[in-house]
Amino acid sequence: MNELSRIVSCIDGYDPEALRVDKARAAIRACLAPIEASERVPLRAALGRVLAGETVPPFDVPGHDNSAMDGYAVCSADLRPDAETVLEEIGSALAGRAFEGRIGAGQCVRVMTGAVLPEGADTVVIQEIVRTEGRRITVPPGQKPMQNVRTAGEDLKSGVPVLKTGTLVSPAELGVIGSLGMAEVSVKRRLRVAFFSTGDELCSVGSVLGKGQVYDSNRYTLYGMLSRLGVELLDLGVVRDDPAALEQALRSAAASADAIVTSGGVSVGEADFVRRLMGELGEVLFWKIAMRPGRPMAFGRIGNAFLFGLPGNPVAVMVTFYQFVREALLVLAGRSGDLAPTSLRAQSAAALRKVPGRTEYQRGILFRDAGEWKVRITGQQGSGVLRSMAEANCFIVLEHERGSVAAGELVSVQPFDGLV
Ligand code: AMP
Ligand code: MG
Repeated sequence: MNELSRIVSCIDGYDPEALRVDKARAAIRACLAPIEASERVPLRAALGRVLAGETVPPFDVPGHDNSAMDGYAVCSADLRPDAETVLEEIGSALAGRAFEGRIGAGQCVRVMTGAVLPEGADTVVIQEIVRTEGRRITVPPGQKPMQNVRTAGEDLKSGVPVLKTGTLVSPAELGVIGSLGMAEVSVKRRLRVAFFSTGDELCSVGSVLGKGQVYDSNRYTLYGMLSRLGVELLDLGVVRDDPAALEQALRSAAASADAIVTSGGVSVGEADFVRRLMGELGEVLFWKIAMRPGRPMAFGRIGNAFLFGLPGNPVAVMVTFYQFVREALLVLAGRSGDLAPTSLRAQSAAALRKVPGRTEYQRGILFRDAGEWKVRITGQQGSGVLRSMAEANCFIVLEHERGSVAAGELVSVQPFDGLV
């Protein structure tokens, strides 16, 4: 035990009482170990999954040199560089139907896009620039050897790895694997994530709201965010602020999941019994992160499961999920490469107030103004104003050292939507 403490204490500038966002991210990253189990699935079922092995083409794609255009396959050595050349058309080739013979001196073959380049030809002249009189084909000067030819293996080369272990299978990867004729793919086992909400004030949807109660919305935002990551979900409902109930929930979550995500119960006023309990069940670090929204957060390990104890405020849940949990779950699921949220720069349409010394995640609307991308904030930015997330299409990230922003200054933006 105390393994996590040892790992995170090696991180330069690690201070659990005032932890910078980048340090918290690094601390989590240093503790994680990806799952190893894999399974074979039919090609279509691999969409959204993580490749468990390298994809190595067993043959070239395309398998032969072929024509990139409709036109005439010729031998470049036959062409006169500065005058017209007259060639004799001796046959034709279509995609899927090759010309069986060989092109001799002064000959050419009519070819369609995708047709295997006939033997003896190295160049294709597009049909729009030739003159035809029966089988006499007149080619203008200025043709370049190899033009309009797709060479064998220019897409995928036999024996040269094309997709790495840890790659997310998106539409393009499905196509690449399909172009190799592979009907099954080896992918990582799906990550299992258990989640629950904590709080005596919480009422589940479908029940009548009692006095002073609030509906449990966090379990819905978490459900949505986790579903989008493609993990297997285990919804453990609402857990009372009661040590026995919490212990039972954590034990059952740890027994069946790779990761546990909870909301609520980690703020200073509430954290004491949670802290004690989690300390008994495993190793959990409690952090005060220099960020807004989302200051308190717990990270640790209970049994074989990593625990992410998020704050209770609805916006803080979403912000901490996207800034820490998302990337951590992708690592656990076996993804490789840079997994940080996509970030770009946009002009702030208005002035923004900000104090240096913490990272702020304001909810923004990225919009186009005369061809320029600009960003403005949604209305109220309170951490209980979940509407601000629904109205937003991006986070405006105001970095740790940054002070207030003047209208027209560039700010970092993390768009909510990706193309694929
Ligand atoms: P906590 O972090 O448990 O102190 O909660 C902070 C605030 O978030 C309180 O106002 C809670 O009522 C609210 N809250 C906590 N959990 C939820 C939830 N699951 N759904 C909606 N609001 C919540
Ligand atoms: Mg609470």
